[in-house]
Amino acid sequence: MTDKAKQAASSKGLLQSEDLYRYILETSVYPREPEPLKKIRDVTADHPWAMMGTAPDAGQLMAMLLRLVNAKKTIEIGVFTGYSLLLTALTIPEDGQITAIDVNRETYEIGLPIIKKAGVDHKINFIESEALSVLDQLLKYSENEGSFDYAFVDADKDNYCNYHERLMKLLKVGGIAVYDNTLWGGTVAVPEEQVPDHFRGSSRQAILDLNRSLADDPRVQLSHVALGDGITICRRIF
Ligand code: SAM
Ligand code: CA
Repeated sequence: MTDKAKQAASSKGLLQSEDLYRYILETSVYPREPEPLKKIRDVTADHPWAMMGTAPDAGQLMAMLLRLVNAKKTIEIGVFTGYSLLLTALTIPEDGQITAIDVNRETYEIGLPIIKKAGVDHKINFIESEALSVLDQLLKYSENEGSFDYAFVDADKDNYCNYHERLMKLLKVGGIAVYDNTLWGGTVAVPEEQVPDHFRGSSRQAILDLNRSLADDPRVQLSHVALGDGITICRRIF
């Protein structure tokens, strides 16, 4: 792994100490990270938006969740260069299917050669589109209702609550939705006037709204985890 890739990954943790975050990555995450995922991080490291790639420690938990629910049919909202997409494709069975949605095909194509080389591209149906209309389209066919085992949401934060409503219909009871960046650089707990400029705006407000609304949602079992930039795991219970 290049130094840049290491740096991009280690600057994401929410832990108080960078050393502690690096300790977790170097002790428990990197030694077990599949080679193609390291390669995706390497090819992404020089990209101006490299920070958007899923944090490897959060990815490790997501792979465990995918296995725990025996996920076969999944949704990915927000692909970028494909770290979380490849992680999902490597984890689900040979006949698994991922509906992967992103408005930007160009960034998906950065990681695509690595995905192909890993031999898992046949599991991916990439749709270049804004995600909400794709979810609405899926819901037009009753056979899609309650048919997905897992969803990872990592795109426009302003729509997270809208995605959640659709996913509560698309996921099976017992299925899992994971929302990324739900601690927004730690600024969810910082008074508004002290929030640094680059964390301000509608996305932060959308994350605050999502966190409140998920906490009140009786349809899900919830766990808000301080991994990466914060992930929230929702298991549909009815
Ligand atoms: N999960 C990715 C990974 O592991 O590298 C990172 C995703 S990145 C944080 C967010 C992505 O969401 C971008 O690639 C962006 O193009 C996409 N996006 C933004 N708004 C979107 C929308 N309305 N519908 C679908 N994709 C969107
Ligand atoms: Ca993210």
